[in-house]
Amino acid sequence: MKFLSELFQPLIDFIYPSVCLSCTKKLPDGEQLICKSCWQKVQRAALPAEFEKELMSKFSIDGYISKAFSSFYFEEGGVLQSIIYALKYDGKKSIGVMLGKCVGELIRNDDDFGLVDILIPVPLHKTKQRERGYNQSDYICRGISQMINIPFRTDILKRRKYTISQTQLNREERRQNVAGAFKVNRRRAELVRGKILVLVDDVITTGSTINECAKTLLENGARNIYAVSVAVAAWKTMSGRCSS
Ligand SMILES: [Zn+2]
Repeated sequence: MKFLSELFQPLIDFIYPSVCLSCTKKLPDGEQLICKSCWQKVQRAALPAEFEKELMSKFSIDGYISKAFSSFYFEEGGVLQSIIYALKYDGKKSIGVMLGKCVGELIRNDDDFGLVDILIPVPLHKTKQRERGYNQSDYICRGISQMINIPFRTDILKRRKYTISQTQLNREERRQNVAGAFKVNRRRAELVRGKILVLVDDVITTGSTINECAKTLLENGARNIYAVSVAVAAWKTMSGRCSS
């Protein structure tokens, strides 16, 4: 079925003209996926400086992450939610690249990010990746990589544990849920030892997943780990499908 729908996509687009993923209005020629006015709304939700402190506070207790950056504040029911939903569950991979470029644009002149060796997407378990067909964070990484000229690798960090959805779990349960979930590919150990690595995810909620990834990389000799996501969600207001 998937093959068929891809085959007939041009025809479907012709019969049903593309609509904005967020407001569902017909897209003007030359605009793709999201209309200009919705996109402007997303950009206005750019992260205010005071929220960056809250982002970093998700990591400071454990101390595995030495720098964190998110471009947007994730609001329940906001434009960004429908965009990220389309990226994760509706096969709209190019949105990931687009969002990644937004993030990359904002960090490209940062001195710390200039010293980074490799970008690493937070991996999905292979069963989940097979179900979804792709890892959305790979595409975000690709967009960032294009903007800051730092390579990304999907073969360094692996998810060995199939974890249940984090949505209904509290902070401590989330931490336990992902404990021991990741491992470094032994054949790529030299890409970790002594390196500055950036973990990339779509939305950071409690930070437990990225924290566990960082712990694993540090145990394997990484020098420093930074965390980057498209958006950061306030833990209390977060629910539903975009948690990770
Ligand atoms: Zn729109």
